[in-house]
Amino acid sequence: MMATRTKLSTLSRQVLTSSPRRFSVPQILSPRRSLSSRVQPSYPGCRPQLQVCHSQRCLTSPRGRRHFGASSTSRGATALAFAEEEPVEEIEVDQGTLPASKLRNIAIIAHVDHGKTTLVDQLLRQSGTLKPNTDQNSAASTDGDSEFGQRVMDSNDLERERGITILSKCTSIDYNGTNINIVDTPGHADFGGEVERVLNMVDGVALVVDATDGPMTQTRFVLGKALARGLRPLVVLNKADRSTARPAQVESDLFDLFATLGATDEQAEYPLLYASAKQGWATAQGPSAPGQAIAPGADMTPLFDLILSHVPPPSHLNRSKPFSMLTVQIESDPYVGVLYLGRVQSGVLRSAKAKSKKIFGRRGLERTEKDAAGAGEIVSIAGIKMGSGGVNVTLVHPEGWGEEGPVALPTTPIDPPTISVVVYPNDSPLAGQEGSKLTSQLIRDRIYKEAETNVALTVLPGPTSESLELRGRGVLHLGVLFETLRREGFELGIGPPKAVLVPNPEVPGQMLEPVEECTVMVKEEYAGGVVQKLTMRKGEMVSYEADEAQEGWVRIVMDVPARGLIGYMAGEFKNDVHGQGTINHIFKGYEPYRGAMDTGRNGALISMANGESSGYAMMPLQARGAMFIHPQIQVYPGMVIGESSKSQDLYLNPCVKKQLTNIRAAGADEKIVLASPKIMTLEESLAYMADDEIVEVTPKNVRLRKLILDVNKRMRMKK
Ligand code: GDP
Repeated sequence: MMATRTKLSTLSRQVLTSSPRRFSVPQILSPRRSLSSRVQPSYPGCRPQLQVCHSQRCLTSPRGRRHFGASSTSRGATALAFAEEEPVEEIEVDQGTLPASKLRNIAIIAHVDHGKTTLVDQLLRQSGTLKPNTDQNSAASTDGDSEFGQRVMDSNDLERERGITILSKCTSIDYNGTNINIVDTPGHADFGGEVERVLNMVDGVALVVDATDGPMTQTRFVLGKALARGLRPLVVLNKADRSTARPAQVESDLFDLFATLGATDEQAEYPLLYASAKQGWATAQGPSAPGQAIAPGADMTPLFDLILSHVPPPSHLNRSKPFSMLTVQIESDPYVGVLYLGRVQSGVLRSAKAKSKKIFGRRGLERTEKDAAGAGEIVSIAGIKMGSGGVNVTLVHPEGWGEEGPVALPTTPIDPPTISVVVYPNDSPLAGQEGSKLTSQLIRDRIYKEAETNVALTVLPGPTSESLELRGRGVLHLGVLFETLRREGFELGIGPPKAVLVPNPEVPGQMLEPVEECTVMVKEEYAGGVVQKLTMRKGEMVSYEADEAQEGWVRIVMDVPARGLIGYMAGEFKNDVHGQGTINHIFKGYEPYRGAMDTGRNGALISMANGESSGYAMMPLQARGAMFIHPQIQVYPGMVIGESSKSQDLYLNPCVKKQLTNIRAAGADEKIVLASPKIMTLEESLAYMADDEIVEVTPKNVRLRKLILDVNKRMRMKK
């Protein structure tokens, strides 16, 4: 944190002093500090400016030094504009938008599979926001079986596969003239700080809980954050139609959960509805007697009404002040380019005669262009060029702030990247057989494009001219990106993930490594195994206590170096806890490097042949270790085909075929019996690989191989 602050202030100074004085000076602010000391005098003929207050991201690229300006229009209103050498385009600031009383901003918190997507779909359908013929989900039936693939919030393939929310999405519903913006909360701390940023935009939260399963540990993290912000949740006990629903027990668990998370009396008195998102009803009427089924309601009206009555409208935001907005997310659109999403914090922004500067609201998940946006509205603004960064930037109208000048809005820092990997174009002998995008130029363009909107991702030049170094929040964060690329037809070689080390500014020569605070909720009988594994990975115990919300469960908090979590989170944890536990981590800070870790990995079984693997050859090789490939798989020299039972690497030929002759053998053929190979997913491979290996990723295959395929060259390099 300290390091970040030093860097920021230095950068600010550099940018300020090096700026040309011809037009205006960009305003780069730390949070909560006044601009007035830095506002430059206006020069004759110079137009008023729109300022961009950067409070967290630093402007490192030259593009970041561009100037934002504003121009007066014929009606005297002032325009928000970007002014460098280009002609000025305009967005006017004016009055006349959706009144705050007709707005509700709400975040939705739900454990995977508790029915969030189905619920939002129902709300969209029943509110009539999506017209039948143009519905994004018109084909979706209410029985849930054929909905897969057509639902609104859960639209990302990868999310379906992994069952977690990766990108928080914003959906807008029109209900009787009121605009309800529902923002999804990401389900994993790997997406650094996004939960807090999303909660910043809302005035209420809806907690969706399965009436059979009850509150699950994953929701605790987000719910805790929401309560700490003083938001008053409303609760929906979903899947109340199921015969297994046990509302009384779940309600009691919920109350305990609110108590453990430190809810105030007001927050603990949350309104609760029973609902069946699948059947499309919600009701406040619980079971008539203990053990009785809940009588179905008519429709979703009780939930709509509860949102309107319980979630306060954003009337506290002042529309008579000048315009300001904190950017929370960056989106990209093929037609309008980069968009900055946020909630207007004060004032009104109106687009007029704009050519490229546009304001977008939402209808369902689709963006719709708007003429104006007032304080409290969640909008995306296109056409502002900001250079690098773009999240946690305060956009302000510079006039009307009084003596103090505009002040950057408070922000939640973006967690710094903790893991780095090097990405190469695929140069294996099988390159180009499955993918269509192979060249380093294509990879480079795509990754830089991704970095525009993926705020936790940093791209640096790699060790070779063709490679790139990517830094991200964890293996899950980077793994999601690589999965996306391979689905788009890219072939890549990905190097082993490493922790991002930084030098200690106080102790020369000492390196600091990122440490994550890891919270594990697990059944007591599996706790010992988890603690042992995390301790082996240089984790240090912070607390170990019984979980008050769930009997027989414990809550363990440990500080673990980010690199220690690489292999663990990807798969081992699930095996250790037999599916009965969750692990979450959040960036804690940089601490002195804790030394090398024992990964417990043996040597590799390496193919020395080119061709197709055969069962005949592989059967005797099984005695040498565990195989990673099936028979009849293409292999090449240098490809890792298994893990040896010894610590040294072994070179094998898995392609030997049985010689066929004309002479009949006297005995029967020996039966070929092969143990099933260990097939690793992309993330498992990333977690598993050794320093001299890379993962070859193609749209159809994930292969582990040595970085240098030629054995002699590899040996020479090792020396
Ligand atoms: P999400 O992961 O929280 O978005 O959950 P989904 O909306 O994808 O729902 C997960 C599964 O639960 C799907 O198979 C739904 O059809 C099912 N489901 C959702 N709501 C209900 C409900 O109210 N009753 C029943 N019986 N099933 C539901």
